[in-house]
Amino acid sequence: MTSRTARTIAHQVPLTVNGGIDRGANHRLDEAWLGAAWSHPSTRCFVVSDGRALVVDTDDGRTELVTTPSFEAPFTEAHRYFLGTGTDGVRYFALQKDTLPGRMDDDARPAGLREAGALLGPRDSELLVHAVALENWQRMHRFCSRCGERTTIAAAGHVRRCLACGAEHYPRTDPSVIMLVTDDRDRALLGRQVHWPEGRFSTLAGFVEPGESIERAVIREVFEEAGVVVDEVEYVASQPWPFPSSLMLGFMARAGSSEIRVDGEEIEEARWFSRDDLRAAIESGVVHPPAGISIAARLVELWYGKPLPVPLP
Ligand SMILES: [Zn+2]
Repeated sequence: MTSRTARTIAHQVPLTVNGGIDRGANHRLDEAWLGAAWSHPSTRCFVVSDGRALVVDTDDGRTELVTTPSFEAPFTEAHRYFLGTGTDGVRYFALQKDTLPGRMDDDARPAGLREAGALLGPRDSELLVHAVALENWQRMHRFCSRCGERTTIAAAGHVRRCLACGAEHYPRTDPSVIMLVTDDRDRALLGRQVHWPEGRFSTLAGFVEPGESIERAVIREVFEEAGVVVDEVEYVASQPWPFPSSLMLGFMARAGSSEIRVDGEEIEEARWFSRDDLRAAIESGVVHPPAGISIAARLVELWYGKPLPVPLP
């Protein structure tokens, strides 16, 4: 297969764009530096709560994260995450709280990455995906996996420490593979998961298992779910997917056979689609392709060659 890198760049994957934030990992253990950064008048912060933050739609049609000066935000009661420094020198923090703050202006609304991830500009998208990923990890690692005692936040949100046994726990990311499989007629293999509504089809995907390479995971998952043997695997792009802690690794894969035998447990139905098949099925409303911020939609578009059609009225 030819390299798809150049074409991939034209298909920007949501949640991956460079927002110019220097994460400044070297400052995370420096409490004096963090304290000074927090107190600086230019510093901005926002509250993240259960994967959501406040966003606002501007008069000129953009969507922005609602940030406030840090001095307006008491942090002693909250978990404070240092997210980094913007290209203009502004330091950004997120505060994890149980609820989002009430707002005087009615324009602000709560939104998670699924709603706002593709609307926010690169800087705000990068800040929110970092904060949401940290929050999800923090919530799920309150106890030490070595001794079972309670852990405490450290390193500006990027470590949890166990005071009982001394273990340090770092943010977890679980690698998952997601792949658009094509056959020798350049048809695409799309499947429907058991719990999905009728007509919804997408790329196959699955978690990388312990002791397994990501390429082997692609081959295994496609065979397990659809009974299709994959010969070639080509990496395309990745996407942070903090729901709660995945990193999606996107591939194009080439099948050596076209016979389909679905597992019936994860995948209820899988079909080969030519581009004409898919266009007709989408336009007639029979098939609902992947949409939204997921890399699945970008992989299908990469094969399709242009944005996917929409159902005809
Ligand atoms: Zn421990």
